[in-house]
Amino acid sequence: MDRKWSFRARISLVLTVLLGLAGCYEPEPKPRIRGEQPSLVLPPAQIPAKQRLMGRSVQGRPIMVEIVGQGTDTALIMGCIHGDERASAALVSELAERLRSNPQEIQGRRVVLLPVANPDGLVAGTRGNVRGIDLNRNFEATNRVDNDRNGLRPLTEPESRVLQDIIQEYAPNRIVTIHQPLNCIDYDGPGQAIAARMAQACDLAVKKLGARPGSLGSYTGEALSIPTITLELPAEASKMSGVGLWQKYGKALMAAVVYPEYAK
Ligand SMILES: [Zn+2]
Repeated sequence: MDRKWSFRARISLVLTVLLGLAGCYEPEPKPRIRGEQPSLVLPPAQIPAKQRLMGRSVQGRPIMVEIVGQGTDTALIMGCIHGDERASAALVSELAERLRSNPQEIQGRRVVLLPVANPDGLVAGTRGNVRGIDLNRNFEATNRVDNDRNGLRPLTEPESRVLQDIIQEYAPNRIVTIHQPLNCIDYDGPGQAIAARMAQACDLAVKKLGARPGSLGSYTGEALSIPTITLELPAEASKMSGVGLWQKYGKALMAAVVYPEYAK
């Protein structure tokens, strides 16, 4: 099995897990605020990871999140809002596996993992969703441009509505959204310090690319003031295994997950 097949096998596994879990989990109750009911706060090793079905794509594929850890500090780490940027799904899945195995690393924190925001695009190998809409231009933002590619109005697509629901429900303190192929770390909103910390932990430099019209970063970073970091992997990341991606970018992701401003 060469590295390319190994990567494909991992993506297949991700999709199989997503599809398999689709009908098996009911939404959990609204997360409780830590401290309100201290008797319910478990040591990290006893907190199981939870998968939730958050909604479905245009073609009915499940959009799943996994929640690891517990606490009032929440990081949202997401991949594959562009379906042809497959390395992002593998890297988020690898992070999920590491956090499940090492819950002590995120004591007092909750991490919401969304490996595949655009499952139809991932299957088809397209940037946009199955209707040709770029989901990363489909959000409500002052800079949005309505057209056939971005959507004729904000949130026309079920995938972008699911993402908005995730953000509203989990109210993350910071968001890392993983893309390809620009090979740098960008940020929107008050994310400069986290971006700099991530850059110290890998070989990518911070580069301000500018907020794209109606992008997730324009919505969460600029409109909602949530630090939103765009981790842009290089094109060749698609040829790397999850383990290889983790070796190169895992420390940068963990730097965002445990960012000290929010440490307990
Ligand atoms: Zn992208």
